[in-house]
Amino acid sequence: MTQRHAQRSLALLLPAILALALARGRQRLDLYETSLEREIDKYAFFPATLGLERDVVDLLTNGGEELTGRINRYLAELNKRAGSLSIYVLDSRGRVVATSNWDQPDSFIGEDLSYRPYFHDAMAKRTGRFFGIGTTRGQPGYYLSSPILVDDHSVGVAVVKVSLEQLEQSWSTVEAPVLVTDENGVVILASVPFWKFTTLMPLTEERRKELAQSLHYNARPLPPLGLQSQGVVGSDKAEIVQLVRPAAEASQTFPVSGLFLSQSAPLRGTDWRLTVLSPFGDLRTMAWLNAALAAAAGVILCIAMIALYLRRVRLWERLRAREALQRAHDELERKVEERTRTLKEAQDELVHAGKLAVIGQMSAGLAHELNQPLAALHTLSDNAIKFMQRGLLEDAESNLTLISELVTHMGALTSQLKSFARKSTGAPRPVEVRHSMENALFFLDRRLSQRSIRPEIDVDPSDLAVLADANRLEQILVNLLANAIDAVEGIETPRLSLSARRDGERVRIEVRDNGSGFSDSVHARLFEPFFTTKDSGGGLGLGLAISAGIARDFGGSLSAVSLDGGGALFVLDLPSAAVSEIIDA
Ligand code: ADP
Repeated sequence: MTQRHAQRSLALLLPAILALALARGRQRLDLYETSLEREIDKYAFFPATLGLERDVVDLLTNGGEELTGRINRYLAELNKRAGSLSIYVLDSRGRVVATSNWDQPDSFIGEDLSYRPYFHDAMAKRTGRFFGIGTTRGQPGYYLSSPILVDDHSVGVAVVKVSLEQLEQSWSTVEAPVLVTDENGVVILASVPFWKFTTLMPLTEERRKELAQSLHYNARPLPPLGLQSQGVVGSDKAEIVQLVRPAAEASQTFPVSGLFLSQSAPLRGTDWRLTVLSPFGDLRTMAWLNAALAAAAGVILCIAMIALYLRRVRLWERLRAREALQRAHDELERKVEERTRTLKEAQDELVHAGKLAVIGQMSAGLAHELNQPLAALHTLSDNAIKFMQRGLLEDAESNLTLISELVTHMGALTSQLKSFARKSTGAPRPVEVRHSMENALFFLDRRLSQRSIRPEIDVDPSDLAVLADANRLEQILVNLLANAIDAVEGIETPRLSLSARRDGERVRIEVRDNGSGFSDSVHARLFEPFFTTKDSGGGLGLGLAISAGIARDFGGSLSAVSLDGGGALFVLDLPSAAVSEIIDA
């Protein structure tokens, strides 16, 4: 990525980077501050406890060589155990009267340290805190001092000098450079050793001289670290700073050059400030990561929204489909109802047409049926006239009786024809089965006698009745009998039987013949409208379809089986009716 690109990306991501950097930096600052304070606190009460030592107070008030020797050894032992750099006691003039390094060549004994601020602080009964470089060994250290009081008067000062190097070393592995500056802005602790005794701000020449004179930093040159502010950000005075340092100073875990977010905080109980320099490089990566995460979250959100939208669309479509289905269903039902009505009407018409067809078929027989009595009537009436002319009144009377019987017979014939041709109401009523069978046979009488068929009727009990319409029941029986007559065509000894039996609440009417029977394929289509095996003109193929329809209308059924020994059996099942309910139609 080019510099320009990097800057542009940085500018775009700046708000995100900064928010992240500030939060992370604040965390680091808190962490380092706590560890530093803990380290210092370990020694905080050390000097004060020396003031409680009877011997130390005696030494300051009375002196004595032997006592000095004892305290020196005591301090040396204490220093060893505490792991501090040195422990020593100053008298009220600032001279070292006892020290842990009494037996070392660079012993502090007799040294005048009255110029050290920690001495003045302690003499003023305050706790002294000071970071400085020792004048003897040039060793940097942290000085903690406490007054040694007698009757509430400072008679001397106890000092412990500790090294914070261990802490510094642990800082070298942290992920961002950290440093501590003292009241003069001089770096006294740093995770990068090269930065120690540099200044955050360049010192004025005057101040530099002053510090050199005070031996505070043991005549160190105190060069500036080289931080260049790029601007303040956030509410807690964080700063973006630019730092350029030699690559050799870099630790394995953080860079030392580039842009940093500088955040600092004062250290409790001192005039020091702890500063953390969070490298932007790492933050930028994190910001990229954050941006990528945000983008990923955005994409996931988009996908979720699209999924939600698609779900909505699917639901909506399903709803619409359901509505459309409901509409189609309603429409279908309406059409079925309409068609059922039309079919019912058509069926009624067909039933009627079927009847007329039967009558048509019977017309020849009827003509014969009527012609015979008519001819007889003619002869009988002629003869009656002649008998009367001859005065043979008895003969005339017997002729007239015969004429009356013939007229009655013809009347019965025509009335039966009339009742058959009549359109029925279709309302179910109790109908005597035997009576309907006889009426049906009557219509087919001529065809039966032509083929010398003598149908057998077996109804048990003989007054067995069904709930139907007399006219329509006769129509079914006529259809079944007509088919049976056709089926026994060519059979040497044709047989046709009609039977009826009660079966619980039902009545089973059977029409059986010993005719040709039918094949399975014919059986499957028997009740189909317009299905016929008869020659053209022989049948319309409507008889069984209409008959089954009528049976259904009365809550019954019509079925058929082809008999093993030849012939067919048609079974009409209808609801039974009590005989007492029969109303003569
Ligand atoms: P159609 O008599 O006009 O052919 P149907 O609906 O009454 O119409 O009969 C349909 C067909 O059923 C007949 O053509 C015939 O093949 C068969 N069928 C009906 N009754 C019998 C029967 N008793 N024996 C054999 N086949 C029959």
